[in-house]
Amino acid sequence: MDTTNKNLEQFKILDVPFNGLTYQAALAILLDFLQTSKNHIIVTPNPEAVMLAQRNKNFGKILNAADLVLPDAIGIILAAKWLKLPITERVPGCDITQDLLKTATTSSCYLLGAAPTIAEKAAQNLREQGVNVVGFRDGYYKPEEMSTIIEEINLLKPDILILGMGMPRQENWAFQNKDNLPCKITLCVGGTIDVIAGNVKRAPKIMRKAGLEWLYRLATNPSRAKRMLDLPRFVVAVVKRGKQ
Ligand code: UDP
Repeated sequence: MDTTNKNLEQFKILDVPFNGLTYQAALAILLDFLQTSKNHIIVTPNPEAVMLAQRNKNFGKILNAADLVLPDAIGIILAAKWLKLPITERVPGCDITQDLLKTATTSSCYLLGAAPTIAEKAAQNLREQGVNVVGFRDGYYKPEEMSTIIEEINLLKPDILILGMGMPRQENWAFQNKDNLPCKITLCVGGTIDVIAGNVKRAPKIMRKAGLEWLYRLATNPSRAKRMLDLPRFVVAVVKRGKQ
């Protein structure tokens, strides 16, 4: 319950402050957050997010204000190694979300994001696994529907809110509504709802272990190629800037 004794030290990579936690330590902290009454925002940046934060200062501020900043991708771990920072383990948002739901069996959750049929399928899959999904909503609602969604979440009082609307939309949403929500954890986790629905497949374990999940995502979804141009830019920026 007391997270003050746990190592929440942060280490900056291009101005983004990552927590240097192992996967299991991050999971333990999330479980601690569930015992509190405050809404904690969790972000899971990859190199593309770090580069977006360089261009979009508001997004950078949001990443700096998050309660936990977890390294989603191998690129962050390699950059940390180069910079000799103690960020040694990937904590993919998609994995930790599903492990949290499996572990926190008495907690409830709400899904917000992905296409309508996908959000519904993800909720159905989780319910079949015994997760208490109190509600869901796709991420393509009209701006005027926003207040109704906030009202619904307040009525249903989920402990965990899973936001899968892509960056920076989900992070902006999380911070804009941080104090108007009854949850204890708001997870900003991109395509996780698609994965839970079975709509998007994760890379095979062997590729994940080899740090090649990004390559699998590029091969299966070539429309990501443009944003992946940020990967070489990230490498150049890290090497140029060095330790901050
Ligand atoms: N999405 C959404 N609303 C939008 C735009 C995107 O709900 O207005 C969803 C999209 O359907 C997908 C997710 O956001 O489920 C984005 O996934 P991606 O893996 O691209 O996330 P990122 O890597 O950008 O965080």
